[in-house]
Amino acid sequence: MFPQDVKSNVLTGHRMSPILGTGSTQDSPASLHYKLSCNVCGANYHDNGLMLDCANVHDPSLLVTDYVDKRFSINEEAEGIYRYERWLPIRRRIPGSYGPVTYRSKRLSRLTGLPNLWIAFNGYWPEKGAHLETASFKELEAHTVLSRVAEHNEGILVIASAGNTAAAFARACSVNHIACLIIVPTWGLQKMRFCEPLDSCVKIVSLTGSTDYYDVITMAERVARLQAFYPEGGVRNVARRDGLGTTLLNAAETIGQLPDFYFQAIGSGAGAIAAHEAGKRLIKDGRFGHTLPRLMLSQNLPFVPIYLSWKSLRHELIEVNSEDGKEQIKQIGAHVLSNRRPPYAVRGGVCDILRASRGDMLVADNLEAQDASRLFEESEGIDIDPAGAVAFATLLKVARCDQIERDAHVLLHITGGGWRRRSLDHRLVSAHPELQFDETQILAQETLDKVAGLFC
Ligand SMILES: [Zn+2]
Repeated sequence: MFPQDVKSNVLTGHRMSPILGTGSTQDSPASLHYKLSCNVCGANYHDNGLMLDCANVHDPSLLVTDYVDKRFSINEEAEGIYRYERWLPIRRRIPGSYGPVTYRSKRLSRLTGLPNLWIAFNGYWPEKGAHLETASFKELEAHTVLSRVAEHNEGILVIASAGNTAAAFARACSVNHIACLIIVPTWGLQKMRFCEPLDSCVKIVSLTGSTDYYDVITMAERVARLQAFYPEGGVRNVARRDGLGTTLLNAAETIGQLPDFYFQAIGSGAGAIAAHEAGKRLIKDGRFGHTLPRLMLSQNLPFVPIYLSWKSLRHELIEVNSEDGKEQIKQIGAHVLSNRRPPYAVRGGVCDILRASRGDMLVADNLEAQDASRLFEESEGIDIDPAGAVAFATLLKVARCDQIERDAHVLLHITGGGWRRRSLDHRLVSAHPELQFDETQILAQETLDKVAGLFC
């Protein structure tokens, strides 16, 4: 359904980026097919594969990628996310990548009363062509981040995660023998189950007790400052965002146009920022519409800091008391949506994209999410994760209140699904942490020494 000339760039022998052949590398930043630019001061940079922030001193902002090719094109011969490699900040391909899937469901359209409802499904659902082994959209970012780093880099990548990102990087690093330290709260370990045992280049540290994603980030930042380690960078990493943005590229390719509405549940909002940035690129292309998708983003009650900030018309994130925040996080079903310090106020962050897209924040409680999850599985025959269920629950509520025009093109992003299905199809191996620390040990020097010692 996509415009034929999207494909024709490849089919007619349009100049291919010289960098991308499996296993090939090109490490000269000046010869890459993109540069980095700053959202605030407009500075441009050749990418060394690791840069996370603008070098100039000003308000916090996100760097963005600026690709040489302004026209959307796909490489049909490349696997997984590399189908969209012209709009990925990468210098090599690595094996084991799978991409997003977009489809339409008559049953879900009937259920919501939206004939132009499309589902972006990121997970494990072989019949639909969805093969993400860790059943989460975080696999899209893991492969992009690793492909951005030069092959000869010998540093140890540090990942902070609430669970899904940890699993995605653990798998991708293991398959490609890339040294990696993963820091995850203990409850995130349930996501660390794989079809194959992890390679010894991947080390896991878990934080016990009432630690949460923010504690994990704090510790990861300390470790990443040690010699031999380098930070993945979270939302500040352009590769993370552009990798996640392939979901919108895949949707535009499948639908033939940009959706009018985009529904997704958010913790940090990296996926939503990514979709917004990808939407801006597609608008510049000109063949997919001229209006940015309205971002209908959601959180899981009672932990809803972004919702509260947005609804109180603030440009700053509301202060969440640490103890209150942790108590609320314990109560939500969608643990991956538990970031206490999301990039809300940063230039180009969640507040900016909600404003620019005329979007809105929505909420669902656990009961609504469970109902939505059951409804989705009954309709589609596949399980979805709690975050996907939160997004679907908010879509159902909005649709029931007739808040969306009936003929609007709506994209529902199911960020994770098929976890249960995958465990039925495969005998999974659990990965265990090498070290565990509690809250009181996070900032101790001895803790850092022990972590560094894992790689000696
Ligand atoms: Zn700048």
